[in-house]
Amino acid sequence: MGLRALGQLGLLPDLEKGSTPLEKFQRIDHQGRDIGDAWFFTFVGESHGARPRVISRHTLMQVFWNNLPVSARAHIHSNKKVSNVRTTSNGVVVSCTDGTSYEGAMVIGADGAYSAVRKHMQRLALEEQQKNAQSSESPAKQNHADEEKPFLTSYRCLWIRFPVLPQLTIGDAFETHGPLITTQLFVDEDSALLNVYEKLPSPTYTPQRWTEADDDPFMDKWRHLPLTRNKLTLGQAYDHRVAAGWINLEEGVVRKWSFGGRVVLVGDAAHKYTPSSGMGCNEGIVDVVVLTNEIARAFSSASRSSSPSEDSSATTTINTVPSAVALATGFKTYQNTRFDLVSYGCMVSGTATNASTWSSLFLKFFDLWILSMKPIQRFFVHLGAKDMARTPCFEFIEGEELIVGKVPWTSKIPKRAEVGAE
Ligand SMILES: Cc1cc2nc3c(=O)[nH]c(=O)nc-3n(C[C@H](O)[C@H](O)[C@H](O)COP(=O)(O)OP(=O)(O)OC[C@H]3O[C@@H](n4cnc5c(N)ncnc54)[C@H](O)[C@@H]3O)c2cc1C
Repeated sequence: MGLRALGQLGLLPDLEKGSTPLEKFQRIDHQGRDIGDAWFFTFVGESHGARPRVISRHTLMQVFWNNLPVSARAHIHSNKKVSNVRTTSNGVVVSCTDGTSYEGAMVIGADGAYSAVRKHMQRLALEEQQKNAQSSESPAKQNHADEEKPFLTSYRCLWIRFPVLPQLTIGDAFETHGPLITTQLFVDEDSALLNVYEKLPSPTYTPQRWTEADDDPFMDKWRHLPLTRNKLTLGQAYDHRVAAGWINLEEGVVRKWSFGGRVVLVGDAAHKYTPSSGMGCNEGIVDVVVLTNEIARAFSSASRSSSPSEDSSATTTINTVPSAVALATGFKTYQNTRFDLVSYGCMVSGTATNASTWSSLFLKFFDLWILSMKPIQRFFVHLGAKDMARTPCFEFIEGEELIVGKVPWTSKIPKRAEVGAE
């Protein structure tokens, strides 16, 4: 679903060039025994017209940058760290640690699971609550504390990038399942990416940070773990690493995604998935689609009400900035559209990770005997196909439908003449 939206931006040819389509996961257990392939990628491709693809973060960024018009590149300021967000009577001011600041009608926080924008948004909300209701100071503090650390961490992840070794073929994907630890290995044109997910002794809202010093004890314990049926091991992948690092796998959905029509969150800043379902980035892209549709609508109606005689074509709509009230309404609609879907996705992703680590007898049975059956896999994709087909597209970008499968998209990409039409 992310690919379709990026296709509307004209990025499909470059994305296809820089990525590899996936067919299936070849699944084994900790002893290297075949536990059945998972064909979800292929079934998704049949239903929706494109199989999921593996692409490095670096290549994705490169494609975005290369396709930006030069005029837009001038508005991108890199190497900035947001240190404060404050609202003014007619907008918002974002300050950075290097002393610079930027003013605008709104700030969109796309700054990840530990979002600074979210932190400042919550502070602004708390200050407003306290100003409006002095007597409810204690409950306001409690609400704030709940949201300060919104994500629960049950797993840590060691990622390892290593060369395409002779045991591997480009486009292959592998999973190893079993108690406490599970792996996902993707083979791209240039390199292989291995993600190893290890269950923590207990879930925590304050996970510790892991460093290179944690590699040795971890590898001593798990070096023997097979990654493929021809017994490429975790130890071999680690020994050939060109890059590696630790991250925590936070999970959860933030309750409030916006403040006062001035601050709004997208992507991991608003919701965090475990990576097992490969949905986190995709969901972030859909956030941007839904949010920008709402913002475009707010700009369009502000423009119409300020100069009713003008037509509302795309070129005239961005001239009048909507009020904070109008933007707040758009932000609420955005969250309402997305909240239940991402909450469900978060639960599915977490369940997939727990099934891969056989976290309960039921999940072990489900993973080994139910999920391994091809007709069941097809049924699950069929079950989710209606929701997937409802994934919105950019309503204000005209174009052709480039990704077509058996299940038609419900939201149609507007044809050129339809954009701006009433
Ligand atoms: C191991 C692993 C595998 C994954 N695999 C998949 C997959 O197969 N498919 C999929 O769809 N998703 C996958 N995901 C999820 C995906 O990576 C995330 O959902 C996605 O990167 C979120 O994008 P984002 O822009 O919201 O946040 P991020 O990617 O975290 O980007 C946030 C950006 O904000 C910047 N930033 C942070 N703080 C500040 C600040 N104070 N000031 C300025 N900038 C700041 C950061 O430097 C960063 O550039 C995976 C995740 C992991 C951990």
